[in-house]
Amino acid sequence: MAGEGFQPGVGYGAELIDLSVLAEGPFTGTPAALASVRVPHERVHSGPAGARLDVRVRRPGRDEAEPIALALDGTAWGIDDVRPPEDLEELLGDSRFLAQHVYAVASDTLQAFERTMGRRLGWAAGHRLRIEAYDSADFRATGYDPQAQLIRFGHRADGRAQRHVPMALYRDLVAHEVTHAVLDGYRPRWADANALLDGFALHEAVADLVAMLSVFSSPDLVERLLETEARARRARGPHDGVAHDGVAHDGGAQDDGASSGAAAGRGGPGERGDEEILRSGLFGLADGLFSRGAVRRPLDRRVPYDWQLDPEPHARGEIVVQAVLNAVVNLWRQRLDCPGGRASRYQIAQSGAKVGQQVMGMVVRALAYLPPVDPTWTDLLRAILASDLVMMPADAPPCPGSRRPGAPRPKGYREVIRDRFWDINVSTDPDTRLDGLDDLEGLRYPVRLSALSSDPEEVNRFIWANPRLMRAMDLDEDTGLRVDRVRPTVRVGPDGFIVSEICASFVQEVLLTRREARDRLGLRILGDYAVVRGGGTLRFDEGGRLCFAALKPVMDAQRQQARAATARAEREQPARPVIGYHAVDERDGVPA
Ligand SMILES: [Zn+2]
Repeated sequence: MAGEGFQPGVGYGAELIDLSVLAEGPFTGTPAALASVRVPHERVHSGPAGARLDVRVRRPGRDEAEPIALALDGTAWGIDDVRPPEDLEELLGDSRFLAQHVYAVASDTLQAFERTMGRRLGWAAGHRLRIEAYDSADFRATGYDPQAQLIRFGHRADGRAQRHVPMALYRDLVAHEVTHAVLDGYRPRWADANALLDGFALHEAVADLVAMLSVFSSPDLVERLLETEARARRARGPHDGVAHDGVAHDGGAQDDGASSGAAAGRGGPGERGDEEILRSGLFGLADGLFSRGAVRRPLDRRVPYDWQLDPEPHARGEIVVQAVLNAVVNLWRQRLDCPGGRASRYQIAQSGAKVGQQVMGMVVRALAYLPPVDPTWTDLLRAILASDLVMMPADAPPCPGSRRPGAPRPKGYREVIRDRFWDINVSTDPDTRLDGLDDLEGLRYPVRLSALSSDPEEVNRFIWANPRLMRAMDLDEDTGLRVDRVRPTVRVGPDGFIVSEICASFVQEVLLTRREARDRLGLRILGDYAVVRGGGTLRFDEGGRLCFAALKPVMDAQRQQARAATARAEREQPARPVIGYHAVDERDGVPA
């Protein structure tokens, strides 16, 4: 059993344990497809409740949650991996497995953030996030509740089963909601009462991407998807344009141009056909996850020119999700051009999973490069590129070495991301100017490095000592700053070297009378007072020098006027999310 040989207190935090979870949900095959996630081994009380998670499971028909032990012998230090019953009805009624699945997926999601960002991430509510895994609330109320700071998963009737289906058995839903909770703890002002809709949409886009790409990162699932896709195409016959499965069948396993050309082009449009298979694999998965019952539009669609004004945060975020997934498909296809890249479906699936993981890492790392207030899509693109630039100075393509004759010029991860954001009309500065330090040369550093990495006061001193930075931020000299957090982050780059930086963020909120708002910022306000805010994210390198800045100036008339106009327009829209992230009927059709 898992607890055997485990000494309390010894090596705690370093041990990992593999736990079985549903790869996607309860209806993917009989028995349902499983995946394995590796989570930190910790002391887990009946609940299950650990240091960071407090999962509660109510049994069907009961009002109160009943504590469930994850260790078979009931000890607090042990977690035993138990596979779910093969029978669907038994699976749906198995509270023990539901507890394990929710605990493991939530822990895995949190860990994906912590591992990638190189630091611990707290919840808005404190150390533990409460998750009601089988709540009595209506299934449509499933989601992260920022007021109560907990996640609720409802359950619902489904034609395919006699028992009610717990929504928490959908792996992507758990990952999506836990991501909301992570983001809310990390940057509470992205989606608070004063936030603009882009902040809510950013929440949705990141939550969707983390959910999709974490499901996609299991090669078994990708392999199965490609198989299903290939079967569907074969069934449609050889004349539907593309009738192969991307695998190099002819002439052995080597991708020597002739065979892959034949594989990619057999009866079809070559490169294009190859990409179509991958696209339908990935986008089919994405659609399966998020448009069950066609509640949400398919992701693979034309981009409306005014998508940035869409009043619904999910619809706005989906366009960005689409751009990132398109980048995954492009990079995936490039990886298949590696020698032997198409040798087997397993190989193709591995490549897809690998690219998916890499791109998810880029998105998650970007969070620490976004400003603490009013993030925009341009900020997101810049953050993705700037954070990747630190990790990978050279923008290497997925398969830098050999290349088939006639294959298109290989492109690096950043170049592909830029291209796909360009498709949705989002662009940013060239690599050399991503650091945001154009107007910030010659700063003074009257600070102690040891304090700078941990003490908000030291960051405050640094800002105060640099009028140039204060001007760039348009700070109000009479109002104090709030330095939210200062954290050292340590990550291992792919070259094996450690990238160590200090990340600090600060916010200034200035209370203005109606007259001050008019005279200083040209704002017309309704009440007697208004609060305007701005903030910045500063990153310092190992030597304590500022190496990156994302600033949202405070007393900048132009910015505040534009912001006020956007806020006014959004207030007049009916779909504004006030309380939660999810419209009441958003998941109406899930999972029918
Ligand atoms: Zn959401």
